[in-house]
Amino acid sequence: MPNKHQLNTKLIHAGEPQKKYGGAVSMPIFQSATFEFGGQTDYHELQYIRLNNTPNHIALHEKLAVLEGAEDALVTSSGMAAISASLLAFLKSGDHFLAHESLYGGTHSLINKDFPDLGIECDFIDGCDPSGWTEKLRPKTKLIYVETITNPLLDVLDLDAVVQFAKSNNLISMIDNTFASPVNYRPIENGFDISLHSATKYLNGHTDIVAGAVIGSKELVTQVRHKLNHLGGSLDPNACFLMHRGMKTLGLRMERQNYNSLAVAIFLEQHPKVLKVNHPGLGSSGSHKRASELLDGFSGMVSFEIEGSVEDANLFMSHLTLFINTASLGGVESLVTRPVQTSHSGMEPEERMAAGIKDELIRLSIGIEDADDLITDLGQALEKI
Ligand code: PLP
Repeated sequence: MPNKHQLNTKLIHAGEPQKKYGGAVSMPIFQSATFEFGGQTDYHELQYIRLNNTPNHIALHEKLAVLEGAEDALVTSSGMAAISASLLAFLKSGDHFLAHESLYGGTHSLINKDFPDLGIECDFIDGCDPSGWTEKLRPKTKLIYVETITNPLLDVLDLDAVVQFAKSNNLISMIDNTFASPVNYRPIENGFDISLHSATKYLNGHTDIVAGAVIGSKELVTQVRHKLNHLGGSLDPNACFLMHRGMKTLGLRMERQNYNSLAVAIFLEQHPKVLKVNHPGLGSSGSHKRASELLDGFSGMVSFEIEGSVEDANLFMSHLTLFINTASLGGVESLVTRPVQTSHSGMEPEERMAAGIKDELIRLSIGIEDADDLITDLGQALEKI
């Protein structure tokens, strides 16, 4: 599909089969493990679910690539499958890479707990401050890894500097774009080599599957695809169907979530029982200027600290009636969690302290409900502490 259309049109039409299967308007599910041999000469071209090339995979790959203005894309069985296969496709024993110091807890654990056994070393950097990056370079540094909006403190990193640094030092630049979604930031158009997603979150948007995505040039995505084909983290066609359906409303959902989260952040910031609010759309955020320049929207996440103890934070959460207390994010329903109990529980307390993640920090994933109802719910729960 030509790249001339705007985002919502791409979401509906990109990757759809040119000739409708049996006339079906909606992409059917091809629940077949294997497909008739078509004379392929390359193992990776054989049509088999694990090799990520059923009609359901192909349609999604094209939709994702067009959406972020890239040549190619790959869906995976989870966000962590996308992240691990991508890092392992370009890093081998003896290699070194740089990563932002405050990453999604699962990625942080992969880097800190699993990679040392494979002989892959990482130095953490402050992605907001390029001044310390060069001194961390080594002869075997291959890659730089960041997130668009960090979890759970919602900083927007100096993404243009990351791209420049990678180009000047011949590194592969990799970014987890989960929190922004392609609606708010398109890494490949901005010079990144690989864009990654936990599609479990905004891309699918309905909290009913686990999936991931890798987006980039044909050459790089092919290398990741071959690694994933060996590791085995392919997405089942039924989950492909749900992700495909979910993505069609991504633009509408994210527009609402951008709006709702800012309304909630402004409310919380003015509340006397709230000490600090993290949201890149707030003028008080250290990332506000950069976020306004780089992003088309601030996304649907808010984190904050209340005046009080961990027990007070738990009490507040227990009084919420619309927010569901659980990890994860990016769905149509609003969620609340304390990252220390869930997404970041794999980090050591000292690591969390160093990253500025306090025990009493509360994180909200804002859904598509009416903002006034969410604010009323937060207000009544704050009154109870
Ligand atoms: N990246 C980010 C920013 C996440 O928040 C998560 C999960 O919460 C992941 C990656 C991992 O995704 P998944 O749970 O789909 O493997």
